[in-house]
Amino acid sequence: MKPKPNRTAWLKGGNACCDTHPKAQARPHRLVLLGAPGVGKGTQAELLAERLGVCHLSTGDIFRAAKRTSGAETTEAMKCALDCMRRGDLVTDEMVLSLVAERVGCLRCGGGFLLDGFPRTVAQADALAKVLTAQQSGLEAVLSYDLPLESIIARLSGRRTCLKCQAVFHVETRPSKTPGICDQCGSVLAQREDDRPESVHVRMQVYERSTAPLADFYREQGLLVSIAAQGTPEEIFGRTLEALFNCSAELLVPF
Ligand code: AMP
Repeated sequence: MKPKPNRTAWLKGGNACCDTHPKAQARPHRLVLLGAPGVGKGTQAELLAERLGVCHLSTGDIFRAAKRTSGAETTEAMKCALDCMRRGDLVTDEMVLSLVAERVGCLRCGGGFLLDGFPRTVAQADALAKVLTAQQSGLEAVLSYDLPLESIIARLSGRRTCLKCQAVFHVETRPSKTPGICDQCGSVLAQREDDRPESVHVRMQVYERSTAPLADFYREQGLLVSIAAQGTPEEIFGRTLEALFNCSAELLVPF
């Protein structure tokens, strides 16, 4: 089995380096996943990252990694960001863009990337476009996952995450073998603070206001690929591969 890229440079930023790099590609995949919270982007990102051999770069994971570091090492700006996250609000563009700027090497990685949860505002999308233009690259596609609101709420309320390795389960649709225990590392599963009903409400409002306009932004650039997010993770993954194949067949050979 191929070793999984460990994303240290993305999660820690600064001078941190990855122990395991994705294999450099002649034409690396550079993808963005778009969709409301709970639509299943994280699961699809994991499946896609494994299939395509690219790194799954989630800005939410940067904040969750920072939350696990000791209080003394956490800056004031990061404490504010973690408060926003707890409430279900967006972290400021300024903070997010400075974190991404610190990790710009990941956007230059010869193995490509799969961005999940970034960009989330038009200002962030503009900033990303500038970075990519400066490095003479661009996005291959923006995969946009669509799901009705009631299904999203059901997914978020049943989602459980491993406190140690961050693997994601769902009490009904993707249960762990032993309830409450992670299949991958045996640690305890818990509900994310921002998956609680009061935070979910805020996150959905924020999504409609700030992130939904990105679909038009990328549609106008001919990059948007819409994917129905109903069904099992495997069914959605099948649709994702098909959609990707249709939009850039020559780039995706071989899978
Ligand atoms: P996620 O795991 O992508 O759902 O992100 C969890 C939380 O992290 C979000 O609800 C926001 O509080 C924060 N966050 C992650 N990415 C961004 C971003 N690109 N812009 C603003 N806030 C973000």
